[in-house]
Amino acid sequence: MPLSLTQPSPAMQVPLLDLKQQYRELKGEIQAAIEKVCASQHFILGPQVRELETKIAEYSQCRHGIGVSSGTDALLVALMALEIGAGDEVITSPYTFFATAGTIARVGARPLFCDIDHDSFNLSPAALERLIEERCELRGREWVNRRTGGRIKALMPVHLYGRLCDMDPLMTSARRLGLQVIEDVAQAIGAEDGAGKRAGSFGHIGCLSFFPTKNLGAFGDAGMCVANDPALAERLELLRVHGGKPKYYHPFIGGNFRIDELQAAVLNVKFEHLDAWTARRQKNAAFYDAAFARADLGGAVQTPPRAAAGRHIYNQYVLRVRDRNPLRQHLMAAGVGTEIYYPVPLHLQKCFAYLGHASGAFPESERAAEETVALPIYPELDETQLQYVVDAIADFYRR
Ligand SMILES: *Cc1c(COP(=O)(O)O)cnc(C)c1O
Repeated sequence: MPLSLTQPSPAMQVPLLDLKQQYRELKGEIQAAIEKVCASQHFILGPQVRELETKIAEYSQCRHGIGVSSGTDALLVALMALEIGAGDEVITSPYTFFATAGTIARVGARPLFCDIDHDSFNLSPAALERLIEERCELRGREWVNRRTGGRIKALMPVHLYGRLCDMDPLMTSARRLGLQVIEDVAQAIGAEDGAGKRAGSFGHIGCLSFFPTKNLGAFGDAGMCVANDPALAERLELLRVHGGKPKYYHPFIGGNFRIDELQAAVLNVKFEHLDAWTARRQKNAAFYDAAFARADLGGAVQTPPRAAAGRHIYNQYVLRVRDRNPLRQHLMAAGVGTEIYYPVPLHLQKCFAYLGHASGAFPESERAAEETVALPIYPELDETQLQYVVDAIADFYRR
């Protein structure tokens, strides 16, 4: 870019995420792992996939891991394995990545949205109880949506930004209604509650994503389902290969949801560093917390409230701020990358207009969509960069 006197180039560049540094540190190891797969010419469901499945299942405190083609496909195949389809409804959050509700609709079921909690950005247990009270009733042995008549079959909580949902009350409500629970663990690998219980181990199936921006990221798309029930795990395995067992004989209709051996090889190398990276993210979050407290910006900036206990893995560090859009402009000019996760809550997406939700239906989700901004939090950032981000934000509010 040409230098200009009126638009001085920023003193520093702090991108939202930079994976190049991580790659530089692991290049030798990763290239050796890739070469090993190339030498074997075993590309589909081989030893690298089995090793990854064992490691991730154990890490997530589950007995079984089923590697799949993406986090989205993990959710899709989980819904298929639990036989959720037309006439069924799945309770979930409208403040999440599209795939959460998108997959529910793709199997022919209906997303039944429930608002989030102000502090955690996750499904609110109180809002869930209100939803059950107001919208659901027991007909015969089935809980149904009073308005639509749809069977309420499952709950899909999302551990957003790397913070575990308040699982105990959510599971109590789910058990009372006899719901299947599919956890969206895409942003929360290794997140824990106060007792050390991990994301993915509470419900029937946990769905992880290894999209490159997640804490454990592949060199492309990849994901995994984790589960404890062996029959359910077997069903997930079959659905991953078109539901065929033996090969070419199909008790169920599945799809091609396989994870690549090459992706598994990369992930097996990276997995050994996951805890160290998560510790760096936590350290960066603690630095931001303290630096924003020192900056004393009054009500303009609210740092993410901490849970009383547990392990937050900080896939994202998300502020609530005043004047968000001008702030983002200011930060861009200062060389600081930010993002909004997510600008439009799912109940207001055009494709979900058929659900009939007006603006105002889920006030906490709508407010979060208007107020939040994610800052750079990746492990390789140094304190000079973090302080620069805080100073740039302080500059904006002090002008
Ligand atoms: C990333 C993500 C997904 C989808 O994962 P992909 O691997 O990108 O398909 C689903 N849900 C949430 C909350 C995510 O952040």
